Amino acid sequence: MVSIKRRNFIQGLVSAGSMLSARRVSAQGRKKVVIIGGGVGGITAARTLLASHLDIDVTVIEPNAFYTTCFSSGLVLAGFQSRSELDFSYYNLKRVENIAWVQARADHIDADKSVVRLSTGDVLSYDRLIVAPGIGFQLSAIEGYSKSASFLFPHAYDLGHRIDPLKARLKALDDGALLAISVPERPYRCTPAPYERASMIAHYLKTHKSKSKVIIFDSKNEFPLMDRFLPAWERFYGDMIEWVPADFGGKLDAVNVADGSIIVDGEIISPALANIIPPQRAGDIALTVGLADKSGWCPVDAVSLESTLIPKIHVIGDAIDAGDMSKSAHSAASLGYVCGAAVGQFLIGEAPTIPDYENACYFIVAQDHGLKVGGSYRPKDGRIVGKKGFSSAVGETDSVRKATAFDGVNWYQQTTQKLFG
Ligand SMILES: Cc1cc2nc3c(=O)[nH]c(=O)nc-3n(C[C@H](O)[C@H](O)[C@H](O)COP(=O)(O)OP(=O)(O)OC[C@H]3O[C@@H](n4cnc5c(N)ncnc54)[C@H](O)[C@@H]3O)c2cc1C
Repeated sequence: MVSIKRRNFIQGLVSAGSMLSARRVSAQGRKKVVIIGGGVGGITAARTLLASHLDIDVTVIEPNAFYTTCFSSGLVLAGFQSRSELDFSYYNLKRVENIAWVQARADHIDADKSVVRLSTGDVLSYDRLIVAPGIGFQLSAIEGYSKSASFLFPHAYDLGHRIDPLKARLKALDDGALLAISVPERPYRCTPAPYERASMIAHYLKTHKSKSKVIIFDSKNEFPLMDRFLPAWERFYGDMIEWVPADFGGKLDAVNVADGSIIVDGEIISPALANIIPPQRAGDIALTVGLADKSGWCPVDAVSLESTLIPKIHVIGDAIDAGDMSKSAHSAASLGYVCGAAVGQFLIGEAPTIPDYENACYFIVAQDHGLKVGGSYRPKDGRIVGKKGFSSAVGETDSVRKATAFDGVNWYQQTTQKLFG
């Protein structure tokens, strides 16, 4: 197993300060940075800018009163974690001096005038704008699917509170029910997450409705850590989880809101509950203002994370094409940190430092049984490319898997503490 040195986030913030030479911009007048999105990427960028001690006004725009993590939401389905533990208040961030917090949605960006228009009617001007809106869905890519169809076929895949209807439907299932999960093609948010979700649903069913079954219809023929998930499923859940790859009929064609059925590779299937995870793209605001290209994701400079389509606007988190980096909370924090530092450097007239990026994701397959995958990355030829990777090995002992599960819990606690604490 190749290991990477995980940079401590606090150390990261300290070094962000030194990357910015502790110089102040007050001589040139107070600069304004506006950040759209109070998620993992946006908050990390805001905190990094503040840690730089530059005289910069930082304003975060976020419509929700609090943040609910998608990460760890699978554990709520299993009953390993309570639902309320996913909720985090913005209270501490709002109290931070020099962060102005605006509870609103950014509706439009006028790049020519360097202003953002908000749902409240207010207009904010910026010297640099950071856009971190997370993902949106390509609803029309699935015949019959729409925003209203998502009530019948919950995706539970953008913000964490969407886990509620999925959990309620799971609890209401009869013993012996069939539950389908449809997984889109890459790229999508946190590629291994649907497989952790299947594991956590199977854990719930095994303990409460043991005659039930989970079938995963996949638009791909492989998934990360597949040769570690599949044997673990067999061991912990017997034949309760079935995975159907694309070449064996896994690709979802359509959903039917009239009777709750789904059509997969031409066959009509009627599960008691279908968790349809639609194909994805950058969050709406990025598309509306032309920050995304035809892939649906936002192309950015690999060093500064400035948009290659619109100057003075940086895009971070799941909304970007991050090259070899996966779309994860850990990646979003790494991108937020690099972006905050780069924006500070631009504002004091320095060139951004060539960054290192990192990612580490943990997944729970069963009680005390965790898997991990991640790596370090760097800019090369305009892309973010992999430097070193690591992952749980095939055939690890139970004690190693238990330690990984603990590491995952620690990662969640430390990450949320650093963001919201
Ligand atoms: C089931 C599941 C499990 C996962 N597990 C893991 C895991 O184990 N480890 C891991 O690292 N990652 C995991 N992830 C991925 C992780 O949740 C995302 O990668 C991460 O949240 C991305 O951060 P972000 O800042 O890009 O977007 P988000 O965290 O989604 O934040 C985007 C924010 O922008 C706001 N916003 C959107 N549009 C606007 C607008 N117009 N104006 C103002 N604000 C706006 C939203 O309200 C939101 O608060 C998981 C995801 C899912 C779905």
